This record gives sequence, C-alpha cells and structure tokens, in this order.
Amino acid sequence: MHLHNEANMCTLIVLKDVFEKYPLVVASNRDENPKRPSAPPLFWFDDPEIYAPRDLVRGGTWIGVNRQGVIAALTNLDTVAHRRGCKSRGQLLVEMLDLGAADQVDRLLAGDIDNVGEFGSTREPYNLPVEYNGLNLVVADSECCTLLVNDGNSTKITRLGSGAHIITGYGVGPDHAPRASEITRRLRDIKDPSPEGLDKLLNFHADGRPEAAACVHDPNEYHKTISSMIVRADRNWTRFETWFRAGPACSGPFDERFDVEFRKNGSES
Ligand SMILES: [Zn+2]
Repeated sequence: MHLHNEANMCTLIVLKDVFEKYPLVVASNRDENPKRPSAPPLFWFDDPEIYAPRDLVRGGTWIGVNRQGVIAALTNLDTVAHRRGCKSRGQLLVEMLDLGAADQVDRLLAGDIDNVGEFGSTREPYNLPVEYNGLNLVVADSECCTLLVNDGNSTKITRLGSGAHIITGYGVGPDHAPRASEITRRLRDIKDPSPEGLDKLLNFHADGRPEAAACVHDPNEYHKTISSMIVRADRNWTRFETWFRAGPACSGPFDERFDVEFRKNGSES
C-alpha cells in the first residue's frame, strides 16, 4: 500500500504568456504505477469547486483547477530520498486549490491564514521538508504563478514569469534533465497550443534514449505514463479549457474538450 520509491518522473510544462490568445497553458503527463487506481477529471462530490482527476489511493490529485480560476499541478521531486509515512502531496495540492489565490501560498504555508479562511482560524505553519516528500508544485491564477519546491531540506517559493517552464521529478528548468532538453527543443516548433500541437511535447519516445522520452514505458510495468492533461486559460480568464487522456501518451488523441467556467467575482472583496 505504500508508494514505491522508484523515480516516477512526471512531466509538467507551464507556458505563461507564450501564446497570445492563451495567457496560461499547462500540459502534463502522469507517470505512475499502472496498478494505482485513479479517476478521470470530474467535479468532486466532496469539494464541488474542484475539477480534477483523482488518485483513489489517497484521495488527492496531481493536477486540478477550481471555479475561481486557479490551477495547481505537481510533480514529485525524486532527487530527494523517499520517506514513508509522509503526508499526501496530492492533498497538499487540494489545500492550495481551496485557498483560491496563487499569491496566498506563502501565507498559507506560514500559518497566517487557513485554507478555509472564512472561519477565521489559523493553523500551524507547514513544515514541508519534514511533513512531505520532495515535490514541485505550481499554483497559478490570472495574477500570479507560484512555484513551490520542497527539496527535503528547505522550501523555496518563487514566482514564475513569462516563458516556458519545464518541471519534472528531476527538477525545474529548460535543461535540467534529458527529457527537459528534448521538450525545450520541441517547443520551438509549437505554433499553436491545440491539444494536437501540445501533444508533441507529451507524446514522444526519443528512440534509443528512454531517459529523454516524455511517454514512459517501463518494461517491468512498474511505472509508466498512465494519463495526460492539458489546461488552457482563455484570454480574458473566464474559463479553463481542459483535455484529458487516460493511458499512455502514445495511446491516441485526447478526449473531448471540457470547459470549466469561472464564477463571476461572486464572493466578497
Ligand atoms: Zn508511449
């Protein structure tokens, strides 16, 4: 029931202000043990603001959006030794989504605000290096794109600016790993952020160099690419356009588009 500690190097590509009509585009592959059960994206019965696929072992997710216009996505950071008994990274992502604003991540971690702030209670500050295994977590909305890295020793929070940000279980940056370099190279040819166009970043095998492939096939079936998701914010930040594909990236096209419309500034302030 515990997670394996082999690298399951998911891929997360964040394209901020790269395409004129789409201020934020996120494309991701989930590499995981194919036996680990998960559900395709849905509005969650127990958290109906969230639209996301779901890990059915621990109840969290690796990528999700909410109806306030926030997206969050994570990869494990596998350069950190895996420890048993840590809190669920997928649940941490849900806590970030419930926060409802990407620029509040720092305050949440510091214990200044609760993720259900209307109750006015505050919680203990998070201690990510102690409480969680290694992770890279992106939380973004129309105002801000926050990157949180827990490398096992410290927690680093930075704001991602305009451009392409390639994130995997090995780190962050255009050339931090062979796969990242390959994606960076392929990005130059992406003219439009359609699912077919973006799939050139998620669905390739880099013949003879499995370490550079985005679509992962493990001969032992221990971890492989088991699903992909694309999320695009439209120009005026009125909705997220999403696509999901269950199965390896090379198994076929994405499912039909599903739009998550944002609430009109309904709540207070
Ligand atoms: Zn494949």
